[in-house]
Amino acid sequence: MTLDLEGKVAIVTGGGSGIGAAICRRLALHGAEVIVADLDSEAARKVSSEICANGQTAHDMAVDVTDAEAAKAMVEFATKRCGGLHLAVNNAGMPGLRAATASYPLDEWRKVLNVNLDAVFYCMKHEITAMLESGGGAIVNMSSVLGFVGLPTTAAYAAAKHGVVGLTKVAALEYARQGIRINAVGPGWIETPLLAANTKIANNPRMEALQPMGRQGRPEEVAALVCFLLSEDASFVTGSYHLVDGAYSAH
Ligand code: NAP
Repeated sequence: MTLDLEGKVAIVTGGGSGIGAAICRRLALHGAEVIVADLDSEAARKVSSEICANGQTAHDMAVDVTDAEAAKAMVEFATKRCGGLHLAVNNAGMPGLRAATASYPLDEWRKVLNVNLDAVFYCMKHEITAMLESGGGAIVNMSSVLGFVGLPTTAAYAAAKHGVVGLTKVAALEYARQGIRINAVGPGWIETPLLAANTKIANNPRMEALQPMGRQGRPEEVAALVCFLLSEDASFVTGSYHLVDGAYSAH
């Protein structure tokens, strides 16, 4: 499927790794000018260099999305250097510690909520303002299948990802008549460095047995859905939450 994203400027947070990197590559393939934003500046540079080496257009930016001023500066880069902002994927995230709710450490709770939920709000605030100036746009917020179902010992992560779905719905309602579509995506278990670091899930035969398709997903399979949602082919799709989980949540 060819999506016409020619002339569109896109921001992808957490674009240096895993799902975010796959989204950056696919957006560029469909013609968008991509700002690869990541805490890990070297990873962002690698992805943007790879895109540019393919003859497409990308920039890299070191951004900590939990810093509201840095989120503002990231959006200003798009408006001042690239002439506007049309597409955004708020994808940066981290899993946090695994612990039962009564013993979940307070500082870890705040860290996980900060990265996975507060930061999405900071980015959206500025992205929406810029998109209103650019005549409209589309946003995808990265939730998780844990924005739909629970999993013991993931209180902070699951609360944050459920929160992303609520935030997405509210903002979509607010801007539906101003040309901005906002959706959330909920990946199941996807092969990325984030999952590999989670030893309770990666290489765990019990988790593998729970995968209806007998395998985990690939970052490219999430990127395909995200790019569709950002494209004009999804022109009547807004305020909704789309799972890409190989039927994990259908149990
Ligand atoms: P990943 O490979 O670890 O990539 C996440 C990227 O985000 C990393 O480059 C990370 O940088 C960056 N990041 C973390 N905190 C940041 C911050 N404060 N500011 C800017 N960038 C930051 O993870 P992934 O698996 O692709 O996950 C991407 C998104 O999908 C996350 O929101 C995750 O919760 C969600 N998700 C993933 C899965 C899965 O199974 N993989 C399932 C459901 C949902 P550092 O490496 O320097 O920390």
